[in-house]
Amino acid sequence: MEFSILTLCYLIGSVTFIVGLKMLSNPASARKGNLVAAVGMTIAILGTIFLYKDSETGHPLGNYPWIFGGLIIGAIVGTLAAKRVKMTAMPEMVSLFNGMGGACAALISLIEFNHLSHELEINMDGWPSGKLLIILLGLIIGSVSFAGSIIAWGKLNGSIKDFSFKGQHIFNIVLLLVILGLAAYLIVVPTTSALLVFYIIFALSLLYGVFFVFPIGGADMPVVISLLNSFTGVAAACGGFLYDNKVMLTGGILVGAAGTLLTILMCKAMNRSLKNVLIGSFGATASGGGQSSASGGTYKEISLSDTAVVMSYASRVMIVPGYGLAVAQAQHACHELEKLLTEKGVEVSYAIHPVAGRMPGHMNVLLAEADVSYDKLMEMEQANDLFANTDVVLVLGANDVVNPAAKSDPASPIYGMPILDVEAAKHCIINKRSMKPGYAGIENELFFRPKSSMLFGDAKKVLQDLIAEIKSL
Ligand code: NDP
Repeated sequence: MEFSILTLCYLIGSVTFIVGLKMLSNPASARKGNLVAAVGMTIAILGTIFLYKDSETGHPLGNYPWIFGGLIIGAIVGTLAAKRVKMTAMPEMVSLFNGMGGACAALISLIEFNHLSHELEINMDGWPSGKLLIILLGLIIGSVSFAGSIIAWGKLNGSIKDFSFKGQHIFNIVLLLVILGLAAYLIVVPTTSALLVFYIIFALSLLYGVFFVFPIGGADMPVVISLLNSFTGVAAACGGFLYDNKVMLTGGILVGAAGTLLTILMCKAMNRSLKNVLIGSFGATASGGGQSSASGGTYKEISLSDTAVVMSYASRVMIVPGYGLAVAQAQHACHELEKLLTEKGVEVSYAIHPVAGRMPGHMNVLLAEADVSYDKLMEMEQANDLFANTDVVLVLGANDVVNPAAKSDPASPIYGMPILDVEAAKHCIINKRSMKPGYAGIENELFFRPKSSMLFGDAKKVLQDLIAEIKSL
């Protein structure tokens, strides 16, 4: 009876996870989708804790003080971290949490291998190759995901710089081959030193995770983040296999598949192949050609009052949000400006670049927080079709995603990445605090073009002052 109720709990967990994931694909239903999946997972977790019975001994799970101790500590840490995190630090937190998922999967493999090695000491004849394969997959993928996510976390918060050395890609490939070779050896050849080999594989996998993410620089981070996400999903699915736990398997496979799809979409958004991202060290260094020509140019500034006039008398305005908008926490002021202009009869929409900000979907999340209507958000292709009929583009803290070098300068490290074609509009006003480059570390010739004007200052302050100016017109 208990087992059938437990199966029902797992079914509910799996179905709500799938429904939740589907709801996440639309900003309007994303929040509810998250909640639906969380409720389902809670049911599956409580079902496991209270209803699970060992198939051989019939014993329940037990260890309740440990389980609830861990759950309570984890829930407190997770809730506090999520409540306190600044919107700009969100990508780092996502990376860190993803790393924790990878670490969990690797720990499961460590524990299960220890169980297995005790059995093997007693009976060397029945070498469990199949089980070992799953344990090793969970160990390798989980460790790579953990170590890689920690490096990604450091890179996103600026505490770790891009690092590569001559021949690093060859080193990485050799390291990976050694890991796979040792794993194959352990699976096929019964050995008394299995524990040692196992720990060597563990250490090398952690090392591989570090060296795998270290050289991937600049604008390529979105691809790596979604790739690591899919690794964690696959590693968790290995745990599901090991414990014959359907909900863990379903969850892991779904996260793995969603992460893989996101990786493909991110690659498409950057117009790069995955191989290129992993081997190319894209964006790690700035291009010489783009910089020298740009830094020699002159730019013009526009005053707040002129900006207010130009925007108020426009027919169509397109706002291009970028990472700086998140830094300034200017999303509410931005929405207020949009409403004010709309009241004045201006048609206002937002152009969303897929890699704007510091995590996939960053701008959608940011603008949703300020209750910006979803039908005002234009995807890149849609926005690029509209720029020619746009009077004013207001670039708010965006840089790389509007850099024309991506189209025109083959020497630029972002060459080939599709950008928002803001130059097609009649007038382009760029708000940022200085002439400093964005994430990819390269200059932007857009700032020096005849149709461009710079509006310097913190995005929130500038928007608040701009709103006051427009109101006083
Ligand atoms: P960028 O990082 O290219 O540029 C942001 C700009 O915002 C900076 O040039 C900065 O200039 C300005 N800025 C910073 N703070 C403020 C502020 N308070 N007020 C006004 N402006 C400010 O951002 P984009 O969104 O254009 O591009 C995203 C980049 O990040 C891409 O290269 C992408 O590949 C990368 N990335 C994206 C991830 C994702 O998943 N979306 C993940 C990791 C990296 P200044 O200092 O002069 O103010």
